[in-house]
Amino acid sequence: MGLVQSLTYRAAKRWIAGKDMDAALERAKEANEKGLGTILNYLGEDVSDPAVAESQFEEYVRLQRALIGKGVDGCVSVKLTQFGLGVVEDAHVVDKVALLAEEAGRAGRMVWIDMEGSAVTTRTLAVYGRVFESRKNVGVALQAYLRRSEDDLRALLAMGAKVRLVKGAYREPPDLVFRSRDEVTKNYLKLMRMLFEAGSGFAVATHDSRPIREAVSLSRSIPGARFEFEMLRGIRDDLKLKLAEEGHRVVDYMPYGEEWYPYSVRRIKEHPSNILLLLRSL
Ligand SMILES: Cc1cc2nc3c(=O)[nH]c(=O)nc-3n(C[C@H](O)[C@H](O)[C@H](O)COP(=O)(O)OP(=O)(O)OC[C@H]3O[C@@H](n4cnc5c(N)ncnc54)[C@H](O)[C@@H]3O)c2cc1C
Repeated sequence: MGLVQSLTYRAAKRWIAGKDMDAALERAKEANEKGLGTILNYLGEDVSDPAVAESQFEEYVRLQRALIGKGVDGCVSVKLTQFGLGVVEDAHVVDKVALLAEEAGRAGRMVWIDMEGSAVTTRTLAVYGRVFESRKNVGVALQAYLRRSEDDLRALLAMGAKVRLVKGAYREPPDLVFRSRDEVTKNYLKLMRMLFEAGSGFAVATHDSRPIREAVSLSRSIPGARFEFEMLRGIRDDLKLKLAEEGHRVVDYMPYGEEWYPYSVRRIKEHPSNILLLLRSL
């Protein structure tokens, strides 16, 4: 590891759970001790070599078994391009997720599918739909910045799907997305209300105080709504604990693995104050 990367790692440790599975499991246990659930993600995406896709799948099998075996309150979240989406047959990807979901289901756990760039949205939802036909413990992320997401959410709700609502993290063609922060937040609030009215077992995945406040208030007016807050490791940690103390289920999403550098750069760019954090550790 070069000097810049090794110095960046000192700051990045707050966002990632470590470079390997053992470290990630330790961080997950620590989060559990604070009253938080966990979602673990093995960093990687856009895998073009089927052999690498297979090894990423095997990592998830081992990870999920370790989570269950060690009694960690946690589950896995995968990116379908890690399993070769777009390179191997879609049916192969369906099989991989279904295998993970089958084992997870026996232990009463979920498997989440992250949503990637808009080039693979339709394909990701199609794979999700096929897995969900036989495995109900699978959920998928949906991005409020995409104009299409309202229609996608209607279709997902009609099939009883489990949805994790996020704002969206990719650079997208301008005509596909709401451009301003305000419009994205407005759409987030709209889709979140749809989830409260018709969803079950969904996730409000944001660090934004406005939708979080609104979710707390909706949870009071719709007491039967089954949902959890999900936030990324190292972001708004105080708020996580406060929500958990108020009795909400809060889940810390923690990525790990050797691919920590691009993930950390994304988090730094997202929020200017993180540059200060980085400089301090340099
Ligand atoms: C559990 C989880 C899973 C996710 N899965 C996906 C996925 O599958 N696909 C996808 O495209 N995106 C995913 N994301 C990322 C998401 O799309 C956003 O990029 C990210 O959550 C930032 O948006 P926000 O909703 O927090 O709102 P923002 O408007 O970006 O932020 C609101 C407030 O949160 C705080 N905040 C946000 N980001 C940071 C940061 N990096 N550092 C410090 N403070 C910060 C600040 O106080 C900020 O004002 C996921 C996010 C979470 C929490």
